Amino acid sequence: LIELDRAHLIHPVASYRGHERQGVRVLKSARGATVTDASGHQLVDGFAGLWCVNAGYGHESIVEAAARQMRELPYATGYFDLGSEAAIRLAAELADRAPGDLNRLYFTLGGSDAVDSTIRFVHYYWHAKGQPKRDQFISIQQGYHGSSTVGAGLTALPAFHAGFGLPFDWQHKIPSPYPYRNPVGEDAATIIDASLSTLKAKIEEIGPDRVAAFYAEPIQGSGGVIVPPKGWIKAIRDLCHHCGILFIADEVITGFGRTGPLFACADEDIVPDMMTVAKGLTSGYVPMGAVFMSDGVYDVIADGAGEAAVGHGYTYSAHPVSAAVALEVLKLYEGGLLENGHKAGVRLMAGLESLRDHPLVGDVRGRGMLAGVELVTDKAKKTPLPAAAMPARRIFDRAWDNGLVIRAFPQGVLGYAPPLCCTDAEIDAIIERTRKTLDQTLA
Ligand code: PMP
Repeated sequence: LIELDRAHLIHPVASYRGHERQGVRVLKSARGATVTDASGHQLVDGFAGLWCVNAGYGHESIVEAAARQMRELPYATGYFDLGSEAAIRLAAELADRAPGDLNRLYFTLGGSDAVDSTIRFVHYYWHAKGQPKRDQFISIQQGYHGSSTVGAGLTALPAFHAGFGLPFDWQHKIPSPYPYRNPVGEDAATIIDASLSTLKAKIEEIGPDRVAAFYAEPIQGSGGVIVPPKGWIKAIRDLCHHCGILFIADEVITGFGRTGPLFACADEDIVPDMMTVAKGLTSGYVPMGAVFMSDGVYDVIADGAGEAAVGHGYTYSAHPVSAAVALEVLKLYEGGLLENGHKAGVRLMAGLESLRDHPLVGDVRGRGMLAGVELVTDKAKKTPLPAAAMPARRIFDRAWDNGLVIRAFPQGVLGYAPPLCCTDAEIDAIIERTRKTLDQTLA
């Protein structure tokens, strides 16, 4: 398998030849929060795949739901005015649980195309409002909003910007609130004030009547699990609304119990104008993403954009098998998984906090079952790990050998996002194996 992979599969993010030298790690099976590789090595999956298998592996009821749907109706396009019972019921169930009036849904295949869809919808909205000059977008440094070519310009990770003038000149950024490394310090109120000032300045610079939308993750994931102070997102949302700018929450990672509630926005007491989800929506069993849109935004587009707003769709939008899986996954979340995730999240955070005494640990942060541990060489000076001396790949490899899957971000942050079904013993194993990995890294 390793040879066939070397010969035929492309792994852009793993760097082409480097990946070929090391060879792919092949997973063979998985149950609960444990994955087994092709050589029989068992690991606790501390990252739920790619922060997506929130429900855990091996749920027979999900398999049954998919099989039932495949037998009855494996495909119905959501492209035109066609549909399936599964997709319609899923939309209704999700609208029922979404914050505020986010009652309109558009289903995609994953997170990147959900973000892309919002870019189109934002355009339709301002066109319908008779303000087509509102065509400038703002997002945040260290933010991640997918890797489609347009969405990658909202993403603020330089590796995603090669070619085609990315980010586009209509895609702007403000600094991340990043409490651990914010030049204004770690005080919540000061950080919020600083973000508001930079956003106001950015809006002025672009032109107040030019800004169409602002994008934020409630917790920045791929940028290194950066947790803004509570109240930050509400303050930013309020400023956007004050300036007439659409506010879009990207909950692709934070949705579906990752931080505790079904949606992190609910915890922050905000209703965005649009919200993107994916990952935990189907818990990774099949691909699916979604855009939630408020009734207010929907009505403007539906009434005003007319024929200018019809050119968007995917063959697999509202796929009935994905929808059937999502409906079953939702039942599992509400049948005990959210509750277990809440308990396990408390244990995870307490365990990671106990690593603060380790010489390499500079910061521990997170919410619920989403956490980051930032490694430094000097705690007082917060000196980042030199990327060349301690590449993330080596830490990842050591953790793997110790029976733990985590994400090691290149800037020296370890990422945690275990399945919500984790037992106490599995959480404890995540902590013990992390400490062992850090000790080996120090040695
Ligand atoms: N938005 C956020 C916040 C994400 O974390 C991701 C993926 N990590 C995406 C969008 C893109 O989702 P996908 O990989 O499913 O296209």
